[in-house]
Amino acid sequence: MIFKHLDNLIELFRLKDWDIDLTIGNCQSEAQTMMMYNCYKADIVIDKNLNEEQQLQSLIHELVHIVMRNTQTIEEENVDEKLHPMWKREMERETEKIAMCIYKLYTQNKDERKEE
Ligand SMILES: [Zn+2]
Repeated sequence: MIFKHLDNLIELFRLKDWDIDLTIGNCQSEAQTMMMYNCYKADIVIDKNLNEEQQLQSLIHELVHIVMRNTQTIEEENVDEKLHPMWKREMERETEKIAMCIYKLYTQNKDERKEE
């Protein structure tokens, strides 16, 4: 089911130029993404212990990171060391806030989408 969501979301986010690999497995946090930007490749790992809803929320969160990759990386590479923890926390909050909006809209509209 989560892999069907991945296909839907890649289309929704206009990320078809990316090679996105999703694994449900062991993860230090809820989810993490390795991006190889030069080849537009991303490997997302989502914690297998999350329930289906949490996995979908985490997937959307990671896809927002991919969409925001340019600005988030430029900021991270240039933010002052002392400010970095605060920058990171706020960046994650913003990413999560956007992800939750998209999650809500995405799940509200699921009946209108083709399930197969
Ligand atoms: Zn994040």
